[in-house]
Amino acid sequence: MKAALLTGVREMKTVDLPTPVVKADTDVLIRMESTGICGSDMHYYQEVNIGNAVVEYPFVIGHEGAGTVESVGPGVAGVRPGDRIALEPAVSCFACDQCRSGRPHTCRDMKFLGCPGQMGGCLAEYLVMPERCCYPIPVTMSFDQAVLAEPLAIGLYGVKLSGLKPGDTIGVLGAGPIGLSTILCARNYGAGRIYSVESVGYRARAAIASGADWAGNPFDEELVKTVLSREPGGLDIVFECCGKQEAVDQAVEMLKPGGALVIIGIPEFEEYIFPAHTMRRKELRIQNVRRQNGCAREAIDLIAAGTVAVDFMITHTFRLDEIQKAFHLVSRYEDQVIKGMIHYERI
Ligand SMILES: [Zn+2]
Ligand SMILES: [Zn+2]
Repeated sequence: MKAALLTGVREMKTVDLPTPVVKADTDVLIRMESTGICGSDMHYYQEVNIGNAVVEYPFVIGHEGAGTVESVGPGVAGVRPGDRIALEPAVSCFACDQCRSGRPHTCRDMKFLGCPGQMGGCLAEYLVMPERCCYPIPVTMSFDQAVLAEPLAIGLYGVKLSGLKPGDTIGVLGAGPIGLSTILCARNYGAGRIYSVESVGYRARAAIASGADWAGNPFDEELVKTVLSREPGGLDIVFECCGKQEAVDQAVEMLKPGGALVIIGIPEFEEYIFPAHTMRRKELRIQNVRRQNGCAREAIDLIAAGTVAVDFMITHTFRLDEIQKAFHLVSRYEDQVIKGMIHYERI
């Protein structure tokens, strides 16, 4: 099969690899149809690592995927060959204390698709995953939509963890696919006014199209002042979706006493700095978000039902042999890209 290999910093190429085979009784062999290029893939592409997850080259990345079931192990009952599925990229052990207490997303023995040191990714024509990572999708749903259920589930989980109540005013800092997914889900959960902050103009416009009421630029020195002139009491919740210190600083200023800072973005640095006295006086709550937990099916259903419209995020599609071009373009935000998709054309 053909697969895309990360071979160095900013280096990808398409190669032939052995097609994986079903080994465990509960394994499913999937013929990939679409793989999304995620911001975390971009970290591995540009920086070798995310925290202590360091790439050893060559490595197959990619964790946002959808495909068709090719064959199944003898113990698989939930999906059959020919079924169209969305992938849940987290393979949890379901035996550790975290898994047993309903937190499989922080499993002690996590194998996450396309995560260095854990398991190879889905930028490949075929993939083997356990049955419980395969979510059937309706025929009316496109494979690209199924791919977008993965980032949407993260936005959905962030909104649920935040404790958002109908009418709450919120900020969403960063309008990449995760920020946009957060806006879509917050809107669907009945958020009041939504303030988006994004430096890239076309993404700020996408934030408005996703349901934000206002969009500002993080480099505008008057940003916090402007938001607070509109919301004198401050915001109820701010979602940090870009991994920037400046965003955390702005969030702390924008939040009302008792507000919540929800951190979803992945920073390129090791430590955040928080203003101790402002945090303390305002009694701010900080909620970190680790991917998602239990939101995959709901995210798929929201898209399938048309409740949440995600198609506007699919801005670019590439063939697998265009992988270098695809990653180059996405890494530079060229051509107004939001989400790049890899499609698998077979001869
Ligand atoms: Zn992702
Ligand atoms: Zn576990």
